Amino acid sequence: MYRIGIGYDIHKLIEGRDLIIGGIKITHETGLLGHSDADVLIHAIIDAMLGALALDDIGTLFPDTDPKYKDIDSTILLKHVYELIKNKGYKIVNIDSNIIAQAPKMMPYIPKMKDVLCKILDIQHENLSIKAKTKEKLDAVGQKLAIESNAVVLLEKI
Ligand SMILES: [Zn+2]
Repeated sequence: MYRIGIGYDIHKLIEGRDLIIGGIKITHETGLLGHSDADVLIHAIIDAMLGALALDDIGTLFPDTDPKYKDIDSTILLKHVYELIKNKGYKIVNIDSNIIAQAPKMMPYIPKMKDVLCKILDIQHENLSIKAKTKEKLDAVGQKLAIESNAVVLLEKI
């Protein structure tokens, strides 16, 4: 049996924070604001994985009121959610995702993001798509005030 899930996330860009996307630290003058490390791509993928099995969403599972998750590395959250999926008897077939950012350019970082995420999720590079888009200078993302991400995940019962 197959199950499909969709995930979306957005975080505000501010000065004085590291920019971490797809488990990779990216050199930039601003970083994403959030209770955790605010890794917008990993959060979208997590919500898609949870959504595929109609489980609680990321905000319910890891509440931003819990000091335990303050500045936490989102790869730790991803590992936790992958364990949940495996415990329910599912594996990941493939993931398609977008990072929507006006700046900086994401393309050079995508191979490293794939290395990190594929290793955690036991999938091959050919089963993980990460696409970089801009917002054509429109809205908050286009004005470099935020970065957005969305993801679709297909799971298969083992
Ligand atoms: Zn988030």
